[in-house]
Amino acid sequence: MKYEAVIGLEIHSELKTDTKIFCGCKTTFGAEQNTHVCPVCLGLPGVLPAVNKKVVEFAIKAGLATGCTINKYSKFDRKNYYYPDLPKNWQTSQYDLPIAEHGAVEIDVDGQKKTIRLTRIHMEEDAGKLVHSGATIKDSAASNVDYNRTGVPLIEIVSEPDMRSAAEARAYMEKIKAILEYIDVSNCHMEEGNLRADINVSLRPVGQKELGTRTEMKNINSFKALEDAINYEIERQAEVLDDGGVIVQETRTFDPERGVTLSMRSKEDAHDYRYMPEPDLPPIITTDEEIENYRKSLPELPDAAAARLQNELGLSAYDAGVITSSRQSAEYFDATVKEGADAKLAANWIMGDLAKNLNADGITIENSPVDAKRLGEMIKLIEKGTISSKIGKKVFAEMWKNPDPPEKIVKDLGLVQITDTAAIEAIVKEVIAKNEKAVADYKSGNKKAIGALVGQVMKASKGKANPQMVNELLAKNLEG
Ligand code: ADP
Ligand code: ZN
Ligand code: MG
Repeated sequence: MKYEAVIGLEIHSELKTDTKIFCGCKTTFGAEQNTHVCPVCLGLPGVLPAVNKKVVEFAIKAGLATGCTINKYSKFDRKNYYYPDLPKNWQTSQYDLPIAEHGAVEIDVDGQKKTIRLTRIHMEEDAGKLVHSGATIKDSAASNVDYNRTGVPLIEIVSEPDMRSAAEARAYMEKIKAILEYIDVSNCHMEEGNLRADINVSLRPVGQKELGTRTEMKNINSFKALEDAINYEIERQAEVLDDGGVIVQETRTFDPERGVTLSMRSKEDAHDYRYMPEPDLPPIITTDEEIENYRKSLPELPDAAAARLQNELGLSAYDAGVITSSRQSAEYFDATVKEGADAKLAANWIMGDLAKNLNADGITIENSPVDAKRLGEMIKLIEKGTISSKIGKKVFAEMWKNPDPPEKIVKDLGLVQITDTAAIEAIVKEVIAKNEKAVADYKSGNKKAIGALVGQVMKASKGKANPQMVNELLAKNLEG
């Protein structure tokens, strides 16, 4: 392709505070419409907002965890626009003095590391939600407004236009999600809209420095939609440019069903919003000491956790990256190792059978029917030789449905590995007697023929014979 794609993301994340940003209303998701509202978040005249301190704390932590500088003097501004989901007719946000600026996070795409710069992180309030009577706004006779979400605290994380592909944009958003989960400031449930992105995409001829004209796709709330929207938009813009056309700066909407982006409206500029300082809220002053205390309170972050898993526990960079990509899976892994399981085996089981079962049943790891303790116990049974890893798969499948400890399951199903020499040798002799051809092949120098015999012995023992002993005893009896 003769164009280079340039991508920048604005990620909105709802903060997991109990109450809204400027009033005491609850932030609980899924409550009955318009039950979590008050004069402040409804924008009635004569009331004053007050900043929720937790919001400032969470925003500062997000800034520190993404390498930002915290602005010790920060303020709120009004972003003015009209829409039914915005009862005040302005959104209280931050304009020229955001809480955090100039950060950077590292991403890894196919082993290729890259730094993505953050322009800023600012705090703002969420708007309400339109509830349409039909499936979409276009085929609805009427729409209701639910103001429960009005005033739910958000941070907006704005990146520099540093990404060059859908894969990089995805890796960046995954990293931001992981960081927010680790520092525990957002639930990051994308399907509930806790985390959503506006995607800005432009093309430029390869080698050109100047940025091309961009389009923006708003409120993308899944990783698949993010990649699909970017890839579609790159192709669409390339076609326009190839045909000698120009890209119009506009806001487009992504239709995930059809996988296409559609023009919505021409893009507004900052001056369209008539930003002005928020007169009802004092500036936010943060001291060096407070910032240091927040810094000290941060937990281990994803990159540090991945480095620990590699350096201290011997995992590969790939495995460490997958395991630490979410806080829940990192915690699950740590708990499995703490139970006494070997780290590499634990990683293999988590990324293998556990991930497969979770996926198939649509369950998240923290709700896994096989918890870290039981997985750790099962891995120890394999390490001790009580069961082989192949039998481990059977035990794991049973554990998925059966809450018993793995040791009991192994006993109840009669899966204990056979390590009794005499018992295995009896099967070996029988197999040798029954398989003249393989035996003759082996004896005439085709050492590979032993594979078929091992298979027969394992089958006859229902997979329970210790494989290493089977190999040794077969070799011994064939030589003899
Ligand atoms: P807004 O969209 O609110 O007007 P900005 O102008 O700050 O805000 O840009 C928003 C996002 O768009 C940022 O993430 C920025 O990196 C990205 N961006 C800006 N210009 C381009 C461009 N030409 N191509 C791709 N992304 C861009
Ligand atoms: Zn309220
Ligand atoms: Mg934008």
